[in-house]
Amino acid sequence: MNSYTFFSDGFAGQDAKVFLEDGERAYTYDDLDRESARYAAFFQGLGLVAGDRVAAQVDKSADAVFLYLGVLRAGLAYLPLNTDYQRGEIGYFLGDAEPRAVICRRSAAGVFGELLKDTRDAKLFTLDASGEGTLREAVAAVPAAAVTGFRTVDRADDDLALIIYTSGTTGRSKGAMVTHGNICSNAAVLKDFWRITANDVLVHALPLFHVHGLFVALHPLLLAGATILMQRKFDPRAVLAEFDRATMLMGVPTFYVRLLGEPSLTPEACSHMRLFISGSAPLLTETFDAFRERSGHTILERYGMSEAGMITSNPYEGERRRGTVGPALPGNSVRVVDLEGKPLPPMQPGDVQIKGPNVFKGYWQMPEKTREEFTADGWFRTGDIGQWDEKGYLAIVGRAKDLIISGGFNVYPKEVEMILDNILGVVESAVVGVPHADFGEAVTAVIVVTSGFSLTEAEVIAKVKSELAGYKVPKVVHFVQDLPRNAMGKVQKAVLRKQYG
Ligand code: AMP
Repeated sequence: MNSYTFFSDGFAGQDAKVFLEDGERAYTYDDLDRESARYAAFFQGLGLVAGDRVAAQVDKSADAVFLYLGVLRAGLAYLPLNTDYQRGEIGYFLGDAEPRAVICRRSAAGVFGELLKDTRDAKLFTLDASGEGTLREAVAAVPAAAVTGFRTVDRADDDLALIIYTSGTTGRSKGAMVTHGNICSNAAVLKDFWRITANDVLVHALPLFHVHGLFVALHPLLLAGATILMQRKFDPRAVLAEFDRATMLMGVPTFYVRLLGEPSLTPEACSHMRLFISGSAPLLTETFDAFRERSGHTILERYGMSEAGMITSNPYEGERRRGTVGPALPGNSVRVVDLEGKPLPPMQPGDVQIKGPNVFKGYWQMPEKTREEFTADGWFRTGDIGQWDEKGYLAIVGRAKDLIISGGFNVYPKEVEMILDNILGVVESAVVGVPHADFGEAVTAVIVVTSGFSLTEAEVIAKVKSELAGYKVPKVVHFVQDLPRNAMGKVQKAVLRKQYG
């Protein structure tokens, strides 16, 4: 089924209810249905047919949401592009995905125009955060009858809905092909698992070009007929100001760290809130504890990725265990295996592999890569290293590619980071491997210290030495103001490896 049809069956009957607030403007579910139909009819009018791609590098706005849903309704595939991507990256995505329509910000029209000049078949439009641009004029010209008469195009579960390019810190970025079936199954599971209803009001401060903001913080809410308060950027004060009328927040760990910096974060300020969810990067146990103390709420941490939507989640009722991402969500299967593919018992780190209706159908035009990333018995290799605890909760202990091999021994950065983070005065840390003549790779620590606190390299090394095997002890310690992070709050280890290598 077309995922939009699935969502609209969910929000049926809520026509007059507010779906989205974007600044001063509020849009009802009726508005959503009409505006997304307008975009869908527009693309059909351009001659795009089922399976064609529409690429968009646009700012966050209500129009961006309607555009996305319009693309789905027309049976086309949406290709969201990170607003930080520069010319070289954009050129690669356009060349690889060959979209037939491309939407960019007015300021980028020159670059996109040049990149597309040899492509006969692609049409370029502009859309700014204000709603202005050539797309608005073009879409406004769609005849009213085409909008009211528009019927969502039928799609099968296995049909392509989006191509999401992975962050790709090494090698070529890969386009994950996400289907309508993937989207529907994940939306239904999350709505039920997190008890989302039409009474919920979500503060949405995440970017719309990534699964977290585009899937998790949109689809289950649509399905429930809930309300979204859209904030175009994350500003802790503006987010806090909504807590008296909101019920849910979804955020990356950085959101919670920044909220903790606000003196007005109190249990009273959060008393109307029902649920705080964190994901996309590991939530530090200190943040989990401090947030519980300051807000009276226990953050629910979950784990997912572009290729699979949400995979595991801490429970809604029952214990939310800090430092874990919970068991597999209903319908999903997760296993942790050794190098031979043998499932591992609790407390032993290994490769996280997954299976289920949420798992994507492969990488765009990369059959070889797709084959490599799936096992013979059909499990997807996530590239994450995880371990089960004794209660069946998964902990993500690192990325396979971040694994350090020093003197022939495997070092999981997370294990060292946990010791470092517990040293008095340490705010946070990142451990990477940098090339070393003797050891192959040398364990290198990068640490952020509380301001006004002094800590020496020798003290840090002595502390780790007292707790871990010698080969895991950092050879060098660097003290920095901040760790480099991407838009989703993930520490950019590749940047650190380059800087200190
Ligand atoms: P992306 O495809 O950009 O969403 O990135 C997915 C990756 O983010 C996963 O493979 C994990 O490495 C990481 N990730 C997502 N959620 C968590 C979490 N709760 N804890 C640790 N890592 C996470």
